[in-house]
Amino acid sequence: MTQHTKGPWRAVDQGKGFGFDIVKGWNCPKANPDQKYKIAEMKLNKFSIKENKANARLIAAAPELLEALSGLISKIDFERQVIDVEPDSGCIECTKGTVPNSKNTGLCDYHKARAAIAKAEGSDGRRSR
Ligand SMILES: [Zn+2]
Repeated sequence: MTQHTKGPWRAVDQGKGFGFDIVKGWNCPKANPDQKYKIAEMKLNKFSIKENKANARLIAAAPELLEALSGLISKIDFERQVIDVEPDSGCIECTKGTVPNSKNTGLCDYHKARAAIAKAEGSDGRRSR
């Protein structure tokens, strides 16, 4: 179950090379002051400003990415109930119990997506397959 602050979030440059704020509701004239939050403060590091800015944008997009990916996985899970899906022979989750684990070390895109959702939600990702 998702417990994070609902999106959308934005990356806002703090200016003068200080870094970026990840915010919700800021710089939005229509936002109620009680609904303006600083989610995180990102100080610049050894990476270039361009890379830091890209990282800030990626963090700010996280709630929308999680929502979109969860929606896609739900649709795929629904379709997998009625359509036989060929397991990915190189995926350790798709082939669990069918071949020695030493033969498969990677994950297919579907299981990578499930693992990413589990990482974001702090769960073990063991929803129905
Ligand atoms: Zn798989």
